[in-house]
Formats: sequence, C-alpha cells, structure tokens
Amino acid sequence: MPVSSSTLILIVIALQQGLFAGLWALAAVAGMSRRAALHWSAGMLVVALGMMLVVQRDQVPVWLGWWVANTCVVVGLVLFRRGIERFAGTSPADVEHVLVCVVTAVLTALATRAGSVWALACVVSLVAGTVLLRTALCVVRDLAGAAGRGVSLASAAPLGLLGSLLIARGVLALLQPERFGQALTATNALSVSVVLGIVASGLLVNFSLAGLVVARMVGELRHYSDHDALTGLLNRRGIEQRLRAERQRLIRHGSPYSLLSLDLDHFKRVNDQHGHPVGDEVLRAIGEILRRVGRGADSAGRVGGEEFWFLLPDTDLVGALPLADRILREARALRLPGSEVLVQITVSIGVAAATDRTESDESLMRRLDEALYRAKTNGRDRLEIAAHA
Ligand code: GH3
Ligand code: MG
Ligand code: MG
Repeated sequence: MPVSSSTLILIVIALQQGLFAGLWALAAVAGMSRRAALHWSAGMLVVALGMMLVVQRDQVPVWLGWWVANTCVVVGLVLFRRGIERFAGTSPADVEHVLVCVVTAVLTALATRAGSVWALACVVSLVAGTVLLRTALCVVRDLAGAAGRGVSLASAAPLGLLGSLLIARGVLALLQPERFGQALTATNALSVSVVLGIVASGLLVNFSLAGLVVARMVGELRHYSDHDALTGLLNRRGIEQRLRAERQRLIRHGSPYSLLSLDLDHFKRVNDQHGHPVGDEVLRAIGEILRRVGRGADSAGRVGGEEFWFLLPDTDLVGALPLADRILREARALRLPGSEVLVQITVSIGVAAATDRTESDESLMRRLDEALYRAKTNGRDRLEIAAHA
C-alpha cells in the first residue's frame, strides 16, 4: 500500500514523541529526577498514541480516531504537568488533573457523537492550551529558586507560547466554526507549517525539560562541591574560600575576623557505645547549633570527621568569646536518644582573632591548633584563646 507523504510525516511525529518517551524512561532508570522523568515518559507515550490514532483516522473506527485520539493528547499533557509538579516538589493538583481528563473525555465524546469537527478542535485546543499555560506558570513560580530565574523563564517560554497558540486555535474554532469543517487526517491537506509546528513544539518542550533537569544537576553539583552532605554546613573547601575572602578584607580594609576551631570530645566513645548512626545524629545536631548561633555573615563548616570551623567576619575576641561560650553551653545541653541512654556531648574550642594584616595563614592556623590542643589538655568542654600573633 503506498503511503502518502503526510502519513509519513505524522508517523515521524509519533516516533519523535516515542523517542523522547524512551529517553525520559532511561533518565528515570539512571535516577535523574526519577518520578518526574517517569511522568514525562508516560506523557510522551500517551501523546504519541494519540498522534498514531490521528494518523490512522481513516482506517480506525471514529470513536478511536476522534474521541480516544484527542483525549490521549490531553491526558498526555496532564501527565506532563504532573511531572513538572513532581520535579518542583509541590503537591500535585490531582483533583484538577482528574477533572480535566474527565471533562475532556465527556466533551470529546459528545463532539464525536455529534460528528462536529469544530467542537472537537475547540475543546481539545482550549483544554490542552490551558494545561500547557498552567504548566508554564508552575515552572516560573515553583522552579525559579531551584533552576535559576533565567532557566525557568527560558523553559516556561515555549510552553507558554504553545499554550497560547492552542488557546487561540480554540477561540478561532469557537468564532469561525466553518473554518474547521474537515477533520485533520493523514490524507487531506496537512500543511507543512502545521507539521513543522508540531515537530518544533515537541522538540522545544523536551529541550525545556532537559534544560530544567540539567540546571538542577549543575546546581546540586555546585552545592556539594563546597557543602558537607551530612550536616549541610560548608565543607573544608567552602569555608577555606570564605576564609580567603576574609583575609583579603583584613589586608585591604583592616577588618578583623575571628575563627573558632571546634572538636567534639571523646566522640569515638559515642560511636563505640551507640553506633555510627547515632554519631552521625550528634554531628548533625552540632551543625544545627552552629547554624542557630551564627549571625547573618558568619559561616560554619565541617572540616574533618568531628571537627568544625566557625568564621566570624568583622569580629574581634570581644565579639567572638560570647558566641564560643554559647556553643559550649548549647552542646552541653544537647540530649539525643542513644542505644540505651540519652547521649550527652561536649566540645572543646580554640578561639583566634585575626587582626594583624601581616600574619600568615599558617601562623593563624598554628595559633588556633595550639588553643584547641590546650582546651583538650586542660580538661575539654572549654574554650581557650589563641596566643597573640
Ligand atoms: P578527643 O576528645 O581527644 O577529640 O577524642 P575523640 O574520640 O573525639 O577523637 P578521635 O580523633 O580519637 O576520634 C574521632 C572520632 O570521630 C573517630 C571517628 O570514628 C569519628 N568520626 C569521624 N567522622 C565521623 C562521621 O562522619 N560519623 C561518625 N559517626 N563518626 C565519625
Ligand atoms: Mg578530632
Ligand atoms: Mg574529638
């Protein structure tokens, strides 16, 4: 049987959707935004099914080629929107989704029964356009923080444009039904611009999604390059960066800063007596204390197993000591459920103020280490002030 060029083009469109469905399924298997990717894969598949039915409209029963085909397109887009909601971490608007699918199914069934092409075009375009616009809104509103404003706007733009075009088509069908007298089939005149529009839309939508996923991955990589996964504080690299910046401010503007070096006391015993997971809980709790105690400009970092630094910009010893004292008290007051008894912990702290712009980093670190060592040898659960530079 000879295949018309328009049939071929529509098959290409369906294959394109199918390919994207496969790629999102692969992304899900690889653990990239798993739940969202599964929704997008399913959405693309359902849209592809709808397209295939449109291609076969001349060969399949009317209810399949009209009713099921159009409902599939809308259901696919709803799945796609639900994937975006999953990706953004917002709770899915399930009632709205079900309503949209049910109302579409009912209205397209009525239009199919009445044999009204314009009514079918009107319903599907208006509903699909609205779903896409709502999805674009979700991308702008809920993903600007995670993906960055630029990326979220760039990803939402194609969705918004496509949604607007579909709504315009729906309104046109409503105002000028006579222009929608003949159903779009593979054998009637399917204009090249319509086909290109559909192919371009598929590409744009999927590139938008890929852009969101990549932006999130890059953001996470960037975050974990200078943050500690266990406590969420800075890691050594992160706090050393801040330290370098403070040192430059001291050299250029003479702004002093203070650095606290904290080490948990007898932490090995906590692990030995209660197990490593309880030890991890203690580390997290100490991280919480540092976050709570810190003022806006202060930075806390976990620089080793049970060692932390606390950097206080624009702060001399007079300002640093009450903070160090508060950390000692809060750590002492900490009670965490252990294996049998509540776990108690203390910390030792060395405090050094950097006020001399000629002092080297090595000298500051040496003073700090010595102070911490003294806090340990003088009985722990205490702070010691570093000698002058
Ligand atoms: P001191 O008072 O002299 O500092 O004694 P300490 O037992 O705290 O010091 P030590 O350096 O002997 O032991 C540090 C312990 O910290 C040993 C190690 O198992 C534990 N530790 C290091 N990193 C982690 C971690 O990520 N999680 C847990 N649970 N324990 C850790
Ligand atoms: Mg230690
Ligand atoms: Mg220790």
